[in-house]
Amino acid sequence: MAALFDLHCHSTVSDGLLSPKDLVAYAAKQGVKVLALTDHDDVAGLQAAREAACEHGIQFVNGVEISVTWKKRTLHIVGLKIDPENAALKAAFEGVRKGRDLRAHEMGADLARIGIHGAYEGAKALAGNSIITRTHFARFLVESGHAKDNKSVFKKYLVKGKPGYKNYEWMSLEQAVKLIKDSGGIPVIAHPGRYDLGTINMLLLMHQFKSLGGVAIEVVTGSHAPPQYQQFAKIAHRFGLKSSLGSDYHGTGISYMPMGCVPDLPEGCVPVWDDWPETANLAN
Ligand code: AMP
Ligand code: MN
Ligand code: MN
Ligand code: MN
Repeated sequence: MAALFDLHCHSTVSDGLLSPKDLVAYAAKQGVKVLALTDHDDVAGLQAAREAACEHGIQFVNGVEISVTWKKRTLHIVGLKIDPENAALKAAFEGVRKGRDLRAHEMGADLARIGIHGAYEGAKALAGNSIITRTHFARFLVESGHAKDNKSVFKKYLVKGKPGYKNYEWMSLEQAVKLIKDSGGIPVIAHPGRYDLGTINMLLLMHQFKSLGGVAIEVVTGSHAPPQYQQFAKIAHRFGLKSSLGSDYHGTGISYMPMGCVPDLPEGCVPVWDDWPETANLAN
């Protein structure tokens, strides 16, 4: 039944390949009934996605995926049911947009130093008016023949220690949770199994997140391997956190999981939607 829900995906407003409208049409075709669009650090796609969802009979949930720096690592915090008109949220994302552009210029300069020219311009052309992300650099590098696919291009150029990687100081965990809560939203730790934290730091993160008013963690996601579903179900239970799920769909060729294929939450999880009146008629 859980494939009816998809609470994490991306459109062209960040680093997805489908416009918000086309993404919703795809979700509908795949049988999704409750959908959150969670673009990175931007809410510009929510209105169009909501209108399309209405046409397709999908329950739409406003979402966003905020980039955070915690203990020198990048984490992602999803905000569900945020108010996209919230002034503090909008101001924060405007700042991130500028910071991303500066980082992208530096990435382009670094890649030029190893003989790859025009990467900033190439990535920028792919991003258009949307925020610029490492995925746009990845697409440019693949399309210009510097790597064979999205997976290998990250490994070769775009992760820590590689020539196109630039460290960036995102907002703090405290700030992200506060922004989400102050705009009426529900903070959710995205794909916790993807961060190389070690046991102690993982438990510390859960503890801090809960203390700050965090509500849920993603247990089932396209970014987790199946054995991690049980592992994070246990962690959620231990910290009194609810469980969320989503495909983290970005588009064909750059996603681990298509929409509409997200497995059920493990037995015993409290779904993040358990008290959402609009989904009360759908099974958990
Ligand atoms: P950014 O927020 O600009 O640093 O870009 C991060 C995005 O790049 C993530 O949201 C993923 O979509 C993608 N990404 C990050 N690491 C990888 C990786 N190792 N393989 C494929 N995609 C990745
Ligand atoms: Mn992404
Ligand atoms: Mn993410
Ligand atoms: Mn994501």
